[in-house]
Amino acid sequence: MVKAISLVSGGLDSLLATKLILEQKIEIEGVYFSSVFYSLKHSNSSLSSLITCELEIPLKILDISSELLEIVKVPKYGYGKNLNPCLDCRILMLKKAYQYMKERGGKFLITGEVVGERPFSQRRKALSFIDKDSGLESLVLRPLSAKLLKPTLAEERGWVDRSSLLDLKGRSRKIQFSLAKELGLKNYLTPAGGCLLTDIGFSQRMKDLFRYNPDFNLKEVKLLKIGRHFRLTPQAKLIIARNQEECQSLKSLSEDGDLIFYPQNEKGPLGLGRGQFRKEDISLASAILARYTDNKANSLKVIFKKSYSQQENFLITPPLEEEILTSLRIA
Ligand code: SF4
Repeated sequence: MVKAISLVSGGLDSLLATKLILEQKIEIEGVYFSSVFYSLKHSNSSLSSLITCELEIPLKILDISSELLEIVKVPKYGYGKNLNPCLDCRILMLKKAYQYMKERGGKFLITGEVVGERPFSQRRKALSFIDKDSGLESLVLRPLSAKLLKPTLAEERGWVDRSSLLDLKGRSRKIQFSLAKELGLKNYLTPAGGCLLTDIGFSQRMKDLFRYNPDFNLKEVKLLKIGRHFRLTPQAKLIIARNQEECQSLKSLSEDGDLIFYPQNEKGPLGLGRGQFRKEDISLASAILARYTDNKANSLKVIFKKSYSQQENFLITPPLEEEILTSLRIA
């Protein structure tokens, strides 16, 4: 039996593409690329159980966070609409999938890409460019659009019957939905919302890091996914949690040297200050925190301390005026 490796994301297209080839009696193993740039909504474990339940194939999870971070900093082929370097990212994924394919004795790769579904990385020309640049020409089968593309090795060798493949193109997903019913696929992720690099707010936060902390690492990226962000000075940044869960996340991501802010005797959030805080920056950060407590009208006692220190200090401050607050907000 010929084996193939399928790049599955949990979205409908990649599940359908895999299912179509499973129907042709090809043995398939899945690869899911996880990354720090994905939203917190879907954990690796829930995604992997979704994929394995729907497809009943073995699944390998490969974390590409570090490589993708370097690409995001300097993409060879530029960005899409926001900070999404989709061409470079797809090339990275295909190269990684190819390495895994060789380890597992696979003969070709499968992806759920559809010609013209995404303006930047799924134009017909872009797809062949991606294959060429990754050195994988004719090894990547895209079952949903195969009839619009040059035959791949799998079709030429007769492992896969080209006539049973599809000719989908464009953004309409009508056919995919009816095919999902036909093939019994019940659970899949919605197309939007996975990769934060396509999100305008997240991209603004990333740009702030590029500007003020260009040597940032993955831990800094994790922080960008939490809370409201404020740039106080080129050296000082404040993050205010939006709920209890984010308070816990901020605490767990805090580092030696960070400042922690919280209101005394008031319901309210936790703030994390990173960088160099002068006296006036601490006052400003406290006033921002006061704005996000339940008691917005009056002055408030705000506690601040170094993370991992027991020694608390405080100051009493009114909440910051809305206009100044807005001018400091990154996204
Ligand atoms: S949307 Fe994000 S994960 Fe998908 S190809 Fe683009 S950069 Fe990569």
